[in-house]
Amino acid sequence: MSGAVRVLLATRNAKKLAELRRILAEAGVAGVEVVGMADVAPFPEAPETGATFEENALAKARDAARATGLPAVADDSGLTVDALNGMPGVLSARWAGSHGDDAANLRLVLDQLTDVPDDRRGAAFVCAAALALPDGTAPSDEAVVRGEWRGELVREPRGENGFGYDPIFVPEGDRRTSAELPAEEKDACSHRGRALRALLPRLRELTDTR
Ligand code: IMP
Repeated sequence: MSGAVRVLLATRNAKKLAELRRILAEAGVAGVEVVGMADVAPFPEAPETGATFEENALAKARDAARATGLPAVADDSGLTVDALNGMPGVLSARWAGSHGDDAANLRLVLDQLTDVPDDRRGAAFVCAAALALPDGTAPSDEAVVRGEWRGELVREPRGENGFGYDPIFVPEGDRRTSAELPAEEKDACSHRGRALRALLPRLRELTDTR
């Protein structure tokens, strides 16, 4: 695609990157060429120290925009469990100790909920998606939005699709776990789909102002 605005999807999580790419492709933002971390020079990843999804998403997007000179979209996401007072929340990726051990994280949440009855197993996936511009200093040059997906947690993992906590999350109005949903069904209602679609007007503005 020539003459398009290059926008970096700043995530090192391959499955998240695939979802973000799919959602943007489905939305069809004309004039935007999406690039991933593999397409840019490597830069160091700062630890996620924010107290909220929004803070972490903005920090990731700002770092990426500054390091690469490209407009950057980043997301920060996680599972908030009612019976755990909203945890693991921003700690979802490292809940069992080491970062990104999906199987151990899922098992720990299930173990913690062993004695929680079926009618108190509510949870939500949350995603904050942020856009930062390399030369943006005014707050209006940045955007951060949030998407949520309510559901409940089952006792045994089911399904092979998706990643992370998908095998134990049954979205509201469904009986399948989100790991049993085809990709397009997950994207249509997921926290990440909702957040990214809320960011689309800002992405479209990037192409309008050229
Ligand atoms: P982070 O946004 O890179 O900090 O990591 C988010 C973590 O939350 C992932 O490692 C998953 O454990 C979990 N998570 C976020 N989104 C999803 C999803 O769509 N399905 C399942 N787990 C998710």
